[in-house]
Amino acid sequence: RSKEKGGNAFHYYHSDMNKRSMHRLNLEIHLRKALERGEFAVYYQPIVNLKNGSVFGMEALVRWHHPDWGMVSPGEFIPLAEETGLIVPIGNWVLRQACKQNREWQRKGYAALVVSVNISAIQFHQMNFVQIVMDALRDSGLPPGSLCLEITENVAMNNVSHILDTMHRLRELGVRISIDDFGTGYSSLSYLKRFHVHTLKIDQSFIRDVTSDEDNAAIVTALIAMSHRLKIKSLAEGVETQEQLQFLIAQGCDEIQGYVFSKPMPASEFEDLISRNKQLNLT
Ligand code: C2E
Ligand code: MG
Ligand code: MG
Ligand code: MG
Repeated sequence: RSKEKGGNAFHYYHSDMNKRSMHRLNLEIHLRKALERGEFAVYYQPIVNLKNGSVFGMEALVRWHHPDWGMVSPGEFIPLAEETGLIVPIGNWVLRQACKQNREWQRKGYAALVVSVNISAIQFHQMNFVQIVMDALRDSGLPPGSLCLEITENVAMNNVSHILDTMHRLRELGVRISIDDFGTGYSSLSYLKRFHVHTLKIDQSFIRDVTSDEDNAAIVTALIAMSHRLKIKSLAEGVETQEQLQFLIAQGCDEIQGYVFSKPMPASEFEDLISRNKQLNLT
């Protein structure tokens, strides 16, 4: 492409590349310091049970408040954190924070909730990952059944025997597992059963136009039916409208998460929501 643009194109291309890598480098420098500077926060988004409309649990979602740049979106810094390995300490912090917070809410006497924590493939593949989970549970005092680990299908891309072993040990601990962004990755359906996952999270890209796109409606219907047959719970992500909600109820989807009920919010606001016993209106 640079040739078509003539003689100077290379220089433009070159300086463009420089700008991009400078931006990346700058982001990385700041990301390295963000943890010790206390710039991260965990937000919580309710997960609602469609049988009764009550809050079943919540997904912990990391937020980065940079002092000068403001909020940096996870879409921007999580991929960089994964490339640089920084996701290991950041993810560990989120895990411990989410366990502590959920235990705190249980201590205060709110109905026991299950907190879901996103786990990147490189976190999951650490040799001591099971120990890290055990430490987070022990130090917080959270019952293992009140923790769910969200992994993506891509975790299963290599070294299946190591994954099966880790899954087995997590299961024995009593923590739950869900497959996040289901339908966007590369794994084989047979893993679903072999890994004994509890919940299948149907990716929001299928939900977005589920009421207007027949193909997505077919995919979502099939995924819900399949998870039922496998005795795995189905959860729809990114549910924004009443129409989507009614479609999912009609298909027998077990749980939803999305703006139709609530956005992710800081811990204090989430506590407000559960203390008011907020319910989803199913009709
Ligand atoms: P995810 O795990 O699939 O999380 C769901 C994302 O969908 C969140 O974006 C959430 O804010 C957004 N969402 C929820 N409901 C709706 C809705 O109704 N409409 C729309 N348009 N979006 C909705 P968020 O918080 O920006 O996070 C993006 C991704 O970053 C997450 O996707 C996850 O892959 C990653 N991530 C976030 N926190 C962590 C973390 O602590 N560790 C790791 N490893 N990854 C994380
Ligand atoms: Mg997730
Ligand atoms: Mg997801
Ligand atoms: Mg997603």
